[in-house]
Formats: sequence, C-alpha cells, structure tokens
Amino acid sequence: MKIKNRIHLYTAVLFIVLLIVMNFTIYFIFQSITLEGEKEQAKEELNRVLTEFHQSLGTLPQGSLLRAYVPVDGFIRIIHENGEATTTTSMDNEKVDKLAFQFGASDKTEIIKNDHIVISSTPMILPSGEVANLQIGKDIEASYRNLNILKTVLFIVTLVATIPVFLSSRFVGNVIITPILSLTATMKEIRNSGQFKQLELHRNADIELREMGETFNHMITLLEENDEKQKQFIANASHELKTPLTIIESYANLLKRRGYQDKDLVDESVEAIHSEAIRMRELTEQLLLLAKNNEEWNVQKQEITLSPFLSEVSRSFERAYQRHITINGLKETTVTSDEQKLKQLLFILLDNARKYSENEIEIIIGKANEQTFIEVIDTGVGISKADQARVFDRFYQVDPARKRGKNGSGLGLSLAKEISEAIDVQLTLQSELGIGTKVKILFDKGQSQE
Ligand code: ATP
Ligand code: MG
Repeated sequence: MKIKNRIHLYTAVLFIVLLIVMNFTIYFIFQSITLEGEKEQAKEELNRVLTEFHQSLGTLPQGSLLRAYVPVDGFIRIIHENGEATTTTSMDNEKVDKLAFQFGASDKTEIIKNDHIVISSTPMILPSGEVANLQIGKDIEASYRNLNILKTVLFIVTLVATIPVFLSSRFVGNVIITPILSLTATMKEIRNSGQFKQLELHRNADIELREMGETFNHMITLLEENDEKQKQFIANASHELKTPLTIIESYANLLKRRGYQDKDLVDESVEAIHSEAIRMRELTEQLLLLAKNNEEWNVQKQEITLSPFLSEVSRSFERAYQRHITINGLKETTVTSDEQKLKQLLFILLDNARKYSENEIEIIIGKANEQTFIEVIDTGVGISKADQARVFDRFYQVDPARKRGKNGSGLGLSLAKEISEAIDVQLTLQSELGIGTKVKILFDKGQSQE
C-alpha cells in the first residue's frame, strides 16, 4: 500500500473512531442526566403527595384523595400488603394496567424502559394501621423523544464530520508525502542525467521536512565536491603526465633506433627516463594528496643552478618534441626553489610555446632589482589583451579554431598559476597578437642568489 494511502486511511479511521466514541459519550451522559432528573422529580413529587396525603387520609375517601393527587400524564396508586391495588390514572389506561406492581418494604424509584414510565414508591401507614405502598408513575415519553432527537443529530453530525475528516487526512498525507516525492524525483533526475541537483527548500516547510531536505542537499554538496575533486584529479593527472610520458617515449625510441653504441646518448636517455619516471611518481602522489583533502602542496626547496637545470629541461623537451630551445642570459645564477615543481612549471610554459608558435623558443635567465627571473619566449600567435586576463582560468582556451589539432584542455596555465603560488614565485604574461608571448617566472629576493 502506498504510504500516502496508508496515512490517509489511518488518520481517517482514527478520527472517525474518536468522533463515534465522543458522540456515544455525549449521548450516554445526556441520557443519564435526563433520566436521573426524571427519577428525582418523581421522588420529590411522591414525597410532597405523601405529606399531604397523610393529613387528609381518614378524613376523605381514598378514591377522592387519589383523584386529587394524580399527576398530569401519570398515575397514583396504593398497593396493599396482600398485593391488591387502587389506581387512579390520567394517562393511557392500558399502559398502566400492563404494569406489574408489587408491595415493597422500602423506597424505590425506577424507570420502566419499555413503557417509558418513571415509577417511585414509598411505604406508608394507612389509618387502619395497615402498611401499604404509595406509588406515583409518570409518562416520560417527551424525554425519550428528546433523547431520540439527540441521537439522530449526533448521527448526522458524525456522518457530516467524516467529510472534512477525509479531506484533512488526505491533506495531511499530501503534506508529508510531497517532500518525499520531490526528493525521489530529484534522486531520479540525478540518476538519469548524471548531474547533481539540490532540492528546493520552502521557507515555511515544517522543521522535520526542512531538516530532511537540508541533509539531502548537504549530502549532494559532498558528493558534488568529491566528484569535482575526482574530475580535477583526472584532468590534472592526465595533463601533467603527458609531457613526462612523451619524453620517456622519445628517449626510448631514440635508444631503439640508435642502439647502445653512443655511450653519451645512452647515459642521457637513461638519466632522462629515470628522472621523468621519478617526477611522474611524485607528481601523481602530489595530485592525489591535493585531490584527497585539499592538502597543501608538498614543497621541498633546494639550491638550483639555473643554467644546467634549464639545459637538462630543454634537452629532454627538444628530444620529445623536436623543437629547438635556446638558453640565454646569466649562466651562473642560482635560486632556492623546488626543483620538481619548477620543472613542471617550465614544461607547462614550454608546451604552450611549442603549441602556439612555429619558430625557435627562447629561455632567458635574468636579474632585475636583485630578483632573478626566467623568461620563456616564443614568436607565435600571441594572445589578445582581453584573453590575457582569462588564460589562467581553468579550462579557458582562447579560440576553438586555434586549438584544432593541438588537443589541449585549457588546464596548463591554471596549473602553472597554482604551482607558482605553491613555490612563491610570480608568474606574469606579456603577449601581442601575431608577435609572440613572454611568460616570466620571477623569484623574490630571498630566493635569488648571486
Ligand atoms: P593544455 O595546457 O591543457 O594542454 P591549453 O594549452 O589550451 O591546454 P593553457 O595552457 O591553460 O591551455 O592555455 C590557455 C590558452 O591560452 C590556450 O588555449 C591558448 O589559446 C593560450 N595560450 C597559452 N599560451 C600561449 C602562447 N604561448 N601563445 C599563444 N597562446 C597561448
Ligand atoms: Mg597549455
């Protein structure tokens, strides 16, 4: 059974049972009050008649006395010990004749339900000394008629009240079930589209339902964040592994083609493959760490003499991509930085210079205001002023037509920015459309040495 119908059924049944119990209670309380009232009245009337009866008994004949005190719509009777009775009635004779009577030694008031009559009797002493019962009876048909009217009214009220009860239980069912339905719909939508979606929370919704919605939304946010981290990890990892893999592949090809005769070449290849393999391992570890819980970059600074370092970087790069790179400037300069990350940063810049230019790529080592810098310069397509502001955004690529055949994803420069922040260097880009691009890595004074 649907939860909505179950709620509907249970609340409706509960309400109706309550209503019936309530109306029964009302009816029985009212009945008891009415009938007790009738009995009280009959008793009071009997006592009044008894007092006056005593005074006149003996002076007036019994028959006339009884006639004088017969109640309206009732009867009065004297019952003797031997079971005989004298009755005077102002109501239906037949009804009175049918009534069984008996001499009783004590006061008694009762209601004869079948005949709708209240009877009250009390013992009395006749002038002859004989003990008899004086009994008064009254027709209480009117009270029974009122009780019947009440019964009908309560019955109709119960019937009429079931309509709003049905409607309100349906409403209660809807109130509870609507958020559950919208939760299910959102979940289905997420399943079908594969896109995360939040529930719309109504400000005046009940606290429990709001809490349920907020918990769901919180869960979706967590899932979304995790999904985002995962995607980021995959994108970053595949971007960053591309260059080392290309370098390893190119050296392996070289060794396959040229064999092992050239000892210098073998040494260079093994060295490059080994260093790129280590870099790849460190890179994946670093990216995993970042993806896991936004941990800081693991920076390990050391002294780097730029000239040999840049020669090694550019040699591997030249081998991998068959592009010439010239290194100019201050050969003896050293800096304090993280070698692996600096290499990663340079590879990103060299990769762009390679992709977006045809001619030679130049690296300049320089110094200005006691700050060492490395510039990667190409004479390629350049970037317009408007685009320069956005190229550091994740996934931003200048012109879709331009990137044809270059299979990039717009990640390089955004990663370069992150890395430069991690190793505390400034990254600035200067470019002119059709002329070329210069990207400068600027070390601060503390990192620059003579
Ligand atoms: P990926 O680096 O992920 O392979 P990508 O090179 O397109 O892809 P980014 O390195 O972030 O991404 O560069 C963003 C955009 O900036 C590039 O698409 C390109 O249009 C432009 N760009 C970057 N470097 C240069 C450059 N040296 N010359 C001309 N345009 C460049
Ligand atoms: Mg790039």
